[in-house]
Amino acid sequence: MNGRPTKFIFLTGGVVSSLGKGLSAAAIGALLQARGLKVTLLKLDPYINVDPGTMSPTQHGEVFVTDDGAETDLDLGHYERFIGRPMSRKNNFTSGQVYETVIANERRGDYLGGTVQVIPHITDEIKRRILLAADGFDICVVEVGGIVGDIESLPFIEAIRQLRADVGHSHVLYIHLTLVPYIAAADEFKTKPTQHSVKELTGFGILPSIIICRSENLLDPKLKKKISLFCDVREDCVINAYDVRSIYELPLLLHKEGLDDRVCELLNIWTGAPNLSDWEHILRTTTSPQRGNVTIAMVGKYVDLKESYKSLSEAIHHAGIANDCRVMIAYVDSEAIEREGIEGVLSRACGTKTPDGILIPGGFGVRGTEGKIEAVRYAREKGIPFFGICLGLQMATIEFARSQAGIIDATSREFSDQGTFVIDMMEEQKRTRDMGGTMRLGSYPCALAAGSRARSLYEAEMINERHRHRFEVNNDFREKLSKAGLLFSGLSPDGFLVEIIEIKDHPWFLAVQYHPEFKSSPRAPHPLFTGFVAAALAQSVERREKKDR
Ligand code: GLN
Repeated sequence: MNGRPTKFIFLTGGVVSSLGKGLSAAAIGALLQARGLKVTLLKLDPYINVDPGTMSPTQHGEVFVTDDGAETDLDLGHYERFIGRPMSRKNNFTSGQVYETVIANERRGDYLGGTVQVIPHITDEIKRRILLAADGFDICVVEVGGIVGDIESLPFIEAIRQLRADVGHSHVLYIHLTLVPYIAAADEFKTKPTQHSVKELTGFGILPSIIICRSENLLDPKLKKKISLFCDVREDCVINAYDVRSIYELPLLLHKEGLDDRVCELLNIWTGAPNLSDWEHILRTTTSPQRGNVTIAMVGKYVDLKESYKSLSEAIHHAGIANDCRVMIAYVDSEAIEREGIEGVLSRACGTKTPDGILIPGGFGVRGTEGKIEAVRYAREKGIPFFGICLGLQMATIEFARSQAGIIDATSREFSDQGTFVIDMMEEQKRTRDMGGTMRLGSYPCALAAGSRARSLYEAEMINERHRHRFEVNNDFREKLSKAGLLFSGLSPDGFLVEIIEIKDHPWFLAVQYHPEFKSSPRAPHPLFTGFVAAALAQSVERREKKDR
């Protein structure tokens, strides 16, 4: 503890899911940080999986990876992007982890013959983990996953209720996020769901001091009054978070509604007014960029589930902020490329056969990979800026091996048991039997080759980036690929693992084995994304000029 006790803000959700609780938590964190406070955030997930690493992206959305190699909820990505501070495995835990610990304690005999129960043993473990994450911070914003009333999240709700007595009433603030739906037939916003949801929360012994109401449009002050009356919350503590143009507008909107003032008042915190100039700049460039539009074709498999590429699409938008342009992402289905050929699919998705850039994101499994390899070939041959990420690097390596190094049956061991494995599994991965948490995970150093594009973009010799994969470039083929013109511009410091590849005589062709998107934020856009979008912008300007001539 750094002298001052930590203040806790618990954010619960009501009515429906997908109201943007994670973003609200992140924006609250950003606002308090902008007032000079040391802020951390924590997400409690009610499901029994130990972590989301083994869940399908269609079920869970993106798996966010921290520096220390935890596979976590995608809300941690929002937290990092909004407060610009790295999260760790302490900042997210699941019911599965809580039960795993308690059961291990029980097997060791720690409970000395007692009956092990949800209260106090599970709730104690939840509180222990919350206090652990909060240690050393002025403010800890705790987002409780799920909706109040869900059976699964009850132990979390009970734990945060108890915690108020443990740390002192003046150090705890409960905020409840709800939906105020608009009913078109009646031409009215309805507060009843909010009333019910607050009543339910009150039934568990928690009376929220602030209610954030999500709505499609600005709410009438009369509705705030009504909610205040029925929910026993001060009128100026009913905060209206109506739909905004960009998620990065949220801190500004919540500030305008007075949220950070109320939080500081209720928690008895003295700070100056927040410095929001960064957020104002970000909003200006996202809503009215000065240098035009670029279209990036993102060729992937889970194109129908954009949530699984959350950090990636954000990182691309951050690069738009850095380049003062608007980046449109065209999600291109790689299996459609296999069926219909690349030009038709690109034209349909991007409105042009030659998008300004092509990006292949991370992914798992063989499905759609031939379409991705075809997209690499197209980008390479047509001189379209290309950025490959994780699986994208593996696709680029395979394409290059087949077409430039004469290894016509080049493939990855992930896809087939036949062929030449230019992408292969490391020995330690071959010995691994468990699926959960066993990939190469978390931050690893990478040395950048002098004279490479990577080196000039990062402006550094050594970098650290986050990984989440099982397969790697097979070192047996490095010499051959290198002779054919592939540059291995980033390697692990011992030279053993390939981290970055480039093709020199191409406007912009670079792929990485790691996930740079996890470290991009609107206030510090990632240099590789910034470079990629700059190259795409240059192409689009060139094309526009040609057309004008
Ligand atoms: N499936 C590949 C691997 O496991 C790539 C993983 C990824 O793109 N994150 O190595």
